[in-house]
Amino acid sequence: MTQTALVARTHAENLDLLAHVAVNIGLGLKPGQELVMTASLDSVALARRITEHAYRAGAALVTTFFTDEEATLARYRHANDASFDHAAKWLYDGMATAFKSGAARLAIAGGNPSLLANEDPAKVGRANRAVSQAYRPALELITRHEINWTIVAGATPAWAAAVFPKDAPDVALAKLWEAIFFTSRITTADPAGAWREHDAALQKRAAYMNAKRYAALQYRGPGTDLRLGLADDHLWLGGGTTASNGLYCIPNLPTEEIFSTPHKERADGTVTATKPLSHQGAMIDGIQVRFEKGRIVQARATRGQEVLDRLLDTDEGARRLGEVALVPHSSPIAQSGLVFFNTLFDENAASHIALGQSYASCVRDGEKLSAEELASRGANDSLIHVDWMIGSAELDIDGVTASGAVEPLMRGGEWAAPVA
Ligand code: ZN
Ligand code: ZN
Repeated sequence: MTQTALVARTHAENLDLLAHVAVNIGLGLKPGQELVMTASLDSVALARRITEHAYRAGAALVTTFFTDEEATLARYRHANDASFDHAAKWLYDGMATAFKSGAARLAIAGGNPSLLANEDPAKVGRANRAVSQAYRPALELITRHEINWTIVAGATPAWAAAVFPKDAPDVALAKLWEAIFFTSRITTADPAGAWREHDAALQKRAAYMNAKRYAALQYRGPGTDLRLGLADDHLWLGGGTTASNGLYCIPNLPTEEIFSTPHKERADGTVTATKPLSHQGAMIDGIQVRFEKGRIVQARATRGQEVLDRLLDTDEGARRLGEVALVPHSSPIAQSGLVFFNTLFDENAASHIALGQSYASCVRDGEKLSAEELASRGANDSLIHVDWMIGSAELDIDGVTASGAVEPLMRGGEWAAPVA
């Protein structure tokens, strides 16, 4: 991995560059296209910069939906019990309509990772389930890559306090912005160029894995001994992708992973998480699960057991895997040494797996296959998609070929060999 010289810029300049990269490299917005954006009220400064860059790139209309953490808490304090089975279906249907008529999607991630930690897990679970169901038609257009979309992060005071608990609020916020700019390659001399170069390297690694066509991956590390079968006709992807609407986007900024679809019936063994998981406002720590024939038959957490149990009980697919991703331990996010308590960053710090919904794009011709055809190849189906980190500097991974030959893939958390 090349490390371009770091450049000192003002916060305003970095914020502007982040917005530029989000719109032009991440989203690949086309002139005339509408943009649907979601953001926290605390990210309004970045949302405004992105809006400006979107219009400069020719956006027909930018529509932003802001959420407010205080309003979310007010619901848990004061709403009647039936409220927690409700979601704004009309809003998500509207988003699906917008995507079908050509709109792009940008989400600004960031927020208090422990917002709902002290709320009733049953209510949190019901509210999440209601949103998952209502959002499904819109989310399917995203997971099937029918539109160009991206997620970028904005620092917020509550998030900064979680990542830097010992610092004064203004110091913590400045440090989190610094970390976002660094890990999002904004502090390089030419951020857009750095992203194109990094994207090409990810594409090359994915192509190598696709040529190898491993039948399974074998993981070994502290608390982990897992054999994970890959879906038939699986595809490895990494970096950018051309959506069905013909537009090239890099869906996550930052991204360090190459990822594919595991076979939902072919995971066996034990796996231990290497980082805490922040799931929609609740923390789950010390996760260890055992798989039999792809299904989680035992799940333990040292913290947040109840949240984990509820998550796994969402539906049948929630106990099976929908994604496998490889990330070298030398990624800028791992090098930052920080735990972000935010999946966008933490999933790119380490190799991971995800419970739940698989990506149709990670199966050959997957976007053209029916749900039944995808399932027959081993792709999983669920209302949830939750990534959790299993990579570390102590994790070894082997590739297992169809004939059973075993080849070293990662050693001590790094690629065992460079790709040409
Ligand atoms: Zn991933
Ligand atoms: Zn994922």
